[in-house]
Amino acid sequence: MVVLVFAMLLVSPGLAACGAETPDRYTMALIYQPETRTLSGEMTAVFYNRTDTVWETVKFQLWPNAFREGAKYLPVSEAYAPAVYYKGASFGEISVTSVDGGEARIAGEDENILEVVPSAPVYPDESVTFTMTFTVIVPEIEHRLGIGEKTVNLAHFYPVLCAWGGDGFCEHVYTCCGDPFVNGTADYDVTFTLPAEYHVAHTGAGTRSEDGELATYHVIAEDVRDFAMVCSEQFSVLSAEAEGIPVTYCYLDDADPARTLVAATQSLSYYAETFGTYEYPSYTVVETGFPYGGMEYPMLSLIADDLPSQDIPLVVAHETAHQWWYAMIGSDQYHEAWQDEGLAEFSAALFMESYPEYGRTYAELLSESENAYRAYYSVSSQLTGGETAMRRALVDFTGDYAYRNLVYDKGFILFDRLRQTMGETRFFAAVKEYARAHKGTIASPEMLISCFASRAPQAEGIFNAFLDGLCVI
Ligand SMILES: [Zn+2]
Repeated sequence: MVVLVFAMLLVSPGLAACGAETPDRYTMALIYQPETRTLSGEMTAVFYNRTDTVWETVKFQLWPNAFREGAKYLPVSEAYAPAVYYKGASFGEISVTSVDGGEARIAGEDENILEVVPSAPVYPDESVTFTMTFTVIVPEIEHRLGIGEKTVNLAHFYPVLCAWGGDGFCEHVYTCCGDPFVNGTADYDVTFTLPAEYHVAHTGAGTRSEDGELATYHVIAEDVRDFAMVCSEQFSVLSAEAEGIPVTYCYLDDADPARTLVAATQSLSYYAETFGTYEYPSYTVVETGFPYGGMEYPMLSLIADDLPSQDIPLVVAHETAHQWWYAMIGSDQYHEAWQDEGLAEFSAALFMESYPEYGRTYAELLSESENAYRAYYSVSSQLTGGETAMRRALVDFTGDYAYRNLVYDKGFILFDRLRQTMGETRFFAAVKEYARAHKGTIASPEMLISCFASRAPQAEGIFNAFLDGLCVI
């Protein structure tokens, strides 16, 4: 995600043996009915127990319940709520109407977890299969899951397997700052039916067919962390290629869509050359109603439809960088948000350094982040004694302002200081090694740090000083 707003808000079963390489698999048949705001689905999912713990219970995140009336953890902060709830209050939720393969119940701190006890425990190296039916009421909100004024964003709508945290499934609540979604990779086979007036931008590669008043998309996405779609009756579409990969831009009112598409293709090519190959078969950027500038999904980037024109290439560059730092190389976005956001922010500035025609320079972006961080530190040190550590769970940030400055600005400055200290050759060798060695994983901070520390002994100290909040900027 990118946060462009600098608002001064201190808010406060069947069991079977598995091959280790066989991916988890979600197969979904989905129908969207705008008149009732419902997305109904049947999902069959196969998961492999790659842990050394017997699974007595299998857990899923139920993200749509964050939008329900009475939710404890709201999906947007008070500052953003009036803009995103463009019709006033609106609610959504998920009802899981049947589960085959186990006994299910709603659980979690905020009705955010589906617990399923499989019909037999799932031992290490075995698989388990569940078939579920569910209905999502889609709220009227311009957010990751919501019916907006011009588009329908359908992300985090299905029960998704919780990430494994070493000794159990991780349970995350929704947070109004940051991206609380931590998923392993899986293959998706999705059939999606909706009124034929809609065009759909989505994760994966697919086909569209029409039957009377309905259109059906059949989409395959392999080795991805999530599956998201954006639907609209108003999209225009432009296409190009980068590195032999088809790149599509679905847009609404962009005054210069060709320029936005070029920013997508150029940044995709630039990162492929700088960090390592783009591994997916296609890439789509979609303009949509969204409060925070942009949002990343595998093979799909959302950019907000209210961005000032001059900001669009930078947002596209940031979101495209997430195809590396999030999609291909995963990290724990809930506890270590700086890891992918800092790299994405730094990567976008690097891209601008090589493409001055977009009107932004690396030096200027760095200076903006340094100034923003110093201003934040000055205010924060007076009010809270200085909240400077970057490593913290999303729920432990005091609000959007602290999150923006500690994760994005300080994250960018961290990678800049490493670059300056290590020099170009060693620094970029470390970044490339991180991308190559941890593709497809959820890489820990220690895995990232070791790629740098093995090339420059002082790198570990720099990371620690930033992450623990001890350095002066
Ligand atoms: Zn981001």
